[in-house]
Amino acid sequence: MKTIFSGIQPSGSLTLGNYIGALSQFPALQEENQCYFCIVDEHAITVPQDRLKLKQQIRSLAALYLAAGIDPEKSVLFIQSEVPAHTQLGWMIQSISYIGELERMTQYKDKSDGKDGVSAALLTYPPLMAADILLYNTDIVPVGDDQKQHLELTRNVAERFNNRFNNIFTVPDIQITKVGARIMSLQEPTKKMSKSDANLKASIFILDEPKQIEKKIKSAVTDSEGIVRYDKENKPGVSNLLTIYSVATNKTIEKSEQEFADSGYGEFKQAVADAVVNMLSPIQQRYYEWMESDALDEVLDKGAERAQAVANKTLRKAKKAMGLGRGK
Ligand code: ATP
Ligand code: MG
Repeated sequence: MKTIFSGIQPSGSLTLGNYIGALSQFPALQEENQCYFCIVDEHAITVPQDRLKLKQQIRSLAALYLAAGIDPEKSVLFIQSEVPAHTQLGWMIQSISYIGELERMTQYKDKSDGKDGVSAALLTYPPLMAADILLYNTDIVPVGDDQKQHLELTRNVAERFNNRFNNIFTVPDIQITKVGARIMSLQEPTKKMSKSDANLKASIFILDEPKQIEKKIKSAVTDSEGIVRYDKENKPGVSNLLTIYSVATNKTIEKSEQEFADSGYGEFKQAVADAVVNMLSPIQQRYYEWMESDALDEVLDKGAERAQAVANKTLRKAKKAMGLGRGK
């Protein structure tokens, strides 16, 4: 049995990218592993958030985890800010992280690019993410491809801590899905789909209505070749739709290409839209049931309690190793 940790930010409504690259992988993992799934609200505030919207998005994300198949009896589902050890260890990890290595992170560069008033927390996001993972003695972190660099940094700071102080942290491995680890924007298919993208036509949201899904896929950017084939370099739009189709229908990319060998883009896009609607509608149904249920708060209370028990133990060891407090 391995220990698994993964987090999603309540920074907006979840996209198809979040589902395919991360969330959809989780239910199977909980069968044979100890899983911790976190709503990382402290990461979300590294960019400005509206207070009431954030609150709603936290709840909504909890319901989506459950709707996607997270079983609260098997997995620990909790909110990051309800387990104070995350920011505490995050601070300690900051003290052994270098400004230079943080400035090299592409997420920092992308999210700060051209912005005024960039928060210091956007730069120190990766040490907090490292703390999230290290607190639970995590073996495996299932995430999308965009988190590779942060995971590499997590491994580096864990080893740095272990060498400099005491060998207390498990150095985690990343787990990335073979197909769909980076779902691209429907409007700019060379850019990843992101829940905080201001262009709402660029993303399919897990909670979009069938008509919206159809409309967005039909207006997805493709090319003028008119042939449905996978070629990421030259046909990023069509390749992205093929990836989405193959994940949604559980067919290989090759099989999907063959299926549309004689089809135009119109027919292809309709099939992609139908497949996405089919994949998402049962999740949507369960989501609304969870949102109306009182059980959601009970799950999160119990999750925070279980997470705290493990996290506080690791924090105590890390403080002792660094010489903080009275070493109790
Ligand atoms: P934001 O724009 O606020 O950063 P996001 O869409 O990138 O939002 P995160 O909360 O940062 O979402 O990431 C949650 C999980 O979803 C991570 O595991 C991340 O790697 C994965 N993920 C995010 N975008 C994609 C994508 N386009 N394709 C596949 N996986 C993705
Ligand atoms: Mg992100």
